[in-house]
This record gives sequence, structure tokens and C-alpha cells, in this order.
Amino acid sequence: MIMGNIKELDKQYIAGTYSRFPIVITHGKGSLLYDEDGKEYIDLGSGIAVNSFGACDDEWKAAVTEQLRKIQHTSNLYYTEPCVKVAEMLSKMSGMKKAFFCNSGAEANEGAIKAARRYAEKKKGANYYNIITLENSFHGRTLTTLAATGQPVFHEHFGPLTPGFVNMPVNDIETLLVTVSEKKTAAIMIECVQGEGGVNPLDRDFVNEIAKICKEKDILLIVDEVQTGLCRSGEYFAYQSYGITPDIVTVAKGLGGGLPIGAVLLGEKVQDVLEPGEHGSTFGGNLISCAGAISVLSRMDENLLADVKKKSEYIKNRLEEAEGVEFVGGLGLMLGIKTKKPAKDVVSKAMENGVLCLTAKDKVRLLPALNIPQDLLEKAMDVLIDACKE
Ligand SMILES: *Cc1c(COP(=O)(O)O)cnc(C)c1O
Repeated sequence: MIMGNIKELDKQYIAGTYSRFPIVITHGKGSLLYDEDGKEYIDLGSGIAVNSFGACDDEWKAAVTEQLRKIQHTSNLYYTEPCVKVAEMLSKMSGMKKAFFCNSGAEANEGAIKAARRYAEKKKGANYYNIITLENSFHGRTLTTLAATGQPVFHEHFGPLTPGFVNMPVNDIETLLVTVSEKKTAAIMIECVQGEGGVNPLDRDFVNEIAKICKEKDILLIVDEVQTGLCRSGEYFAYQSYGITPDIVTVAKGLGGGLPIGAVLLGEKVQDVLEPGEHGSTFGGNLISCAGAISVLSRMDENLLADVKKKSEYIKNRLEEAEGVEFVGGLGLMLGIKTKKPAKDVVSKAMENGVLCLTAKDKVRLLPALNIPQDLLEKAMDVLIDACKE
């Protein structure tokens, strides 16, 4: 037990990169979390879309504990069963062929970028290295994924970033055509719904045009599903609701149900592009994380998707009629609410009254556990609707 005030010790010993909410979370169960004073909260953030089935879910806990009793980690020098199982399950859900395992979203995107450059080099030559990304996107915090991220505010003070990224406006087909014709392009990388950028779904026409150009010109389509993936959008992957087939898909956040794991999913064209020694990760495919992922993926089926869609409709219907709400956007259980009051004020007020939400740019962002019970969701909406009032 740490002696003293946790908030003060945090300030003293932890790098000041986060502005935290003023509560100390000690434990949780499902969609309920508790702070150090014993106050109960309904959680509409699930650790930023990480705890897919909430806190300390029994099935997930049993699966992780069982693996913990066998062995925690082997390195990638040996074959292991959990790793293969996760890859097979992801392949069946996504239609992609092979997986590379890593530990986070940024790392998954790094892997995707490496695979894309390797493919373009083999097919077209080493000067085809450019990756087109979109304004307002978010792809991670490493120097390369920052370069991919289309938000200049994150770039400041850390240059030079990895070269070879071309940023362009969303939903602008004309600029897309010009950019592709001017730049020697290896890949186009998108989030179907820009999460950190404000929960903004891309236009269907724009996404279809990207998919078409990629196919025509043998440019790889990378879809970053780190936030949208794994049932969050109401489909297994958000690209499925757009009816496109990417070449590379990245996942992380919700995959381990709360344990760090990410994956690069490689489609037909690129399944064998990376050769022995060209990429790796010490922790990638860690057995505890994989056991968590198997538990999570084994519960992702049509019933869950139907339930996610139903709850999404319920939230939209309640909020769209609420005083102080301008509109609700997003897909599935990844929703952004434009409120008349500043989003931060709404989130603070809701927290005071026992409901935890997030923000994304100027929106209140909701990413509840995929299995949040309907009664808790109803209670949480009462509180949130009250918090939106001016
Ligand atoms: C969170 C996120 C990332 C970064 O994931 P980390 O695990 O924090 O590295 C990348 N892309 C998208 C779309 C994200 O939402």
C-alpha cells in the first residue's frame, strides 16, 4: 500500500504527459468502477475501448488465469498454440490471411507501414515509399506514426519525423486523385471513423474511391481499426460496413480485453511480403495477452453485433432528443456527441454524478463495454442527458 496522497505522488514520480481526471480508480466489475472513496461509477469509456467486456469479466479472467498457470511467455523462438488460435480467429473474422503480433496500436501501424513499403519496393521500386494519410487522423505516438497522424499539434517540437507521409483533407476525392498521380505512393492509410479526431465517419463515396484507386494502381489500402475494430462499430471491422476489402488491417485496443496486444493483419497480396528477420517484437504474441484475446474473440458473433447495434440506436434516440445536444455521430458503440456546452464541462458534470465518459476534440465520446447491461446504460443516459443541459 502506497502511503500518502496518490495524486501528489503521481505528480512527483510520473512523467507529466497525461492530464488525468481527479479520481483514483481502485477496482471494477463489468461496467461499474469504484474510486478510493468507494464511490461507484457507470463506465462509458472502458479504458478507451480496451476492456471489451468490461472490468474483471469472469470468462476472460478464467481464460487469462488458466494460461497464467501454464506459462506466461516463451518468446517468438518457439511455436505456441494461443498465438496461432488468435491469428486463425482474426483471419476468419476479417478475411485477411496472416497476422503479425505486437503490443499496441502504434506498433501495429508501424508494422503495417513497414509491410507496405516492403511490398512497394518489391513491386515498383524503392522510391515508391509515400504513404497518404488524412487530416485529423490519429495513428499513434511513435515518430513514424506521428508522421502519419494528420494533426500538426502533435508534430510540434519533435521533428524531424519519419519522411514519406503525405497528408490530405478527408472526403476530398479531387485532391486524392491529384496526390496519387503526383506522389509515388506505397499505401493509403485511413480510419473509417476517425476516433481521436472527433468520432467522424468518412463519407462512403470517398472510401469507395480510395478502395478503387488502390486496386487500379496496386497501391495498398491500410485500414487502422485500432479503435473501430472488433465489434466496436457494430460490425467485426468498420471497413466491412463500408463494403471494402483492405490489404492491411491494424488492431489493438479491444483485442486483449484489457491486456496489451496489437496485430497487423495481412491480406492476400501482402501475406508473404515480410521475410524472416525483417520484423519482430519480443513481447509480440505474449501468451497471457493471447489467452485474453481468445476469450474476447470467441464471444464476438452475430448476436453480439446485433446487441451493439441495438444499444447504439438506444443511445442515439435518447441523446438526439435531449436538451443541449446538437447531434450524435459515429457507429455502433463508438459515438461522439456534439453538445452546446463545452464537452469537458459535460464530462465533469457526468463524473460528479457517477458516469464516466471521454472526450474527442469538441465531442463527448462514448466507448462503453460491448456488453454493458441495458439497465446501467439507461441509468447512465439519465445522468448524461442531465449533464448536457445548459
Ligand atoms: C489509440 C489509437 C492508436 C494508438 O494506439 P496505442 O495502443 O496507444 O499505440 C492508433 N490508431 C488509432 C485509430 C487509435 O485509436
